Amino acid sequence: QPRLVPVTLDRWQYDVTIGEDLLRHAAVLLSPVLPQKRVVVVTDSTVESLHLPHLLQGLAEGGIEARTIVVPPGEGSKTLAEYERVTGILLEMGVERGTTVIALGGGVVGDLAGFAAATTMRGLPFVQIPTTLLAQVDSSVGGKTGINTPFGKNLLGAFHQPLAVLADTATLATLPRREIRAGYAEIVKAGLIGDPTLFEWCEANGQAVLDGDADSQAEAVRRACAFKAAVVGDDEREERKSDGRALLNLGHTFGHALEAELGYDGRLLHGEAVSLGLRLAFVTSERMGLCDGADVARVTAHLERLGMPVHLRDLDQTFSAERLLAHMQRDKKMRDGRLSFVLVRGIGQAFTCRDVPDSLVREILLAEG
Ligand code: NAD
Ligand code: ZN
Repeated sequence: QPRLVPVTLDRWQYDVTIGEDLLRHAAVLLSPVLPQKRVVVVTDSTVESLHLPHLLQGLAEGGIEARTIVVPPGEGSKTLAEYERVTGILLEMGVERGTTVIALGGGVVGDLAGFAAATTMRGLPFVQIPTTLLAQVDSSVGGKTGINTPFGKNLLGAFHQPLAVLADTATLATLPRREIRAGYAEIVKAGLIGDPTLFEWCEANGQAVLDGDADSQAEAVRRACAFKAAVVGDDEREERKSDGRALLNLGHTFGHALEAELGYDGRLLHGEAVSLGLRLAFVTSERMGLCDGADVARVTAHLERLGMPVHLRDLDQTFSAERLLAHMQRDKKMRDGRLSFVLVRGIGQAFTCRDVPDSLVREILLAEG
């Protein structure tokens, strides 16, 4: 029985459906929300060979006419050039306002296809079928779409909420273990921000998630999506909401700096940077007298036990603390000339803090490097 997470956002409502073998039942699951029985599936060439046939078969069984656009795999497809090519094909196909764009793939395909859907003819209906754990737990809630520019990541984009999200855990069976781990870091993050029972669940079930147990994976995706939906959703009181969204950056101020130094070419995945960043956020909190050393140890032990990188020295790379600090200062979350950090008072008790001294960050980076 699939699990459902209802999302209400920008007065828009949709369900994230989580379960096994949803691709084959795509027509049944999507027919109630599709304005027309015509769709265009955008995918990357890796996912095309692994999973597209199941989706096409599932759609055909319900009489849904599907055409396909394939992009190269990897972050390199989130460019203006690829966006121009994809939207050009959509227009050449003669899409109508009721033609739905389906993103079948990881966060790259979701962001690119979502941005193409958001902007083509001022907005085509959109469906997400995320095939990486990261995309299932993170990009399927929130409605952010976009591409990268030479000036930085995700700087051209739009909010475009989907009609539906299908998170099929069967697709995760072909995902490399390293990618599963990277997505798992975002699940742990959700627990550490504001759901201590989710973190406890991770301590008990994290290994099963990484080992490919379908039920544990579905439960992990459900819990992480439900957490994110509560943080960004409309039922949240407006004044808490802005802080709430910011909390989703726990571990990301350090993480983005590490990625800027090493990422985007496969040396360091986003989720690996987040794993390192989560621990550094806890270390910083402890050094500022905000949280217990026992919590730092507990978070470190959990990530380490599951084979996630937790120490900068694990990375086989040399770091310049100064360069990392410079990246952090350039980070878009910087306001009023100060770094805005997400810190913790304990597990599941994150808050934003502007009073982290540069000198402490430098000291921690030097000690860790
Ligand atoms: P990705 O889309 O590049 O996928 C990672 C790799 O896995 C790719 O090579 C892909 O071809 C392959 N792959 C995908 N599904 C597979 C499967 N089932 N089996 C085997 N291989 C598979 O990367 P990602 O980690 O999914 O997403 C990262 C992107 O997501 C970044 O660009 C990031 O900015 C974006 N993102 C967006 C949001 C949002 O809210 N919109 C949130 C988080 C991340
Ligand atoms: Zn992230």
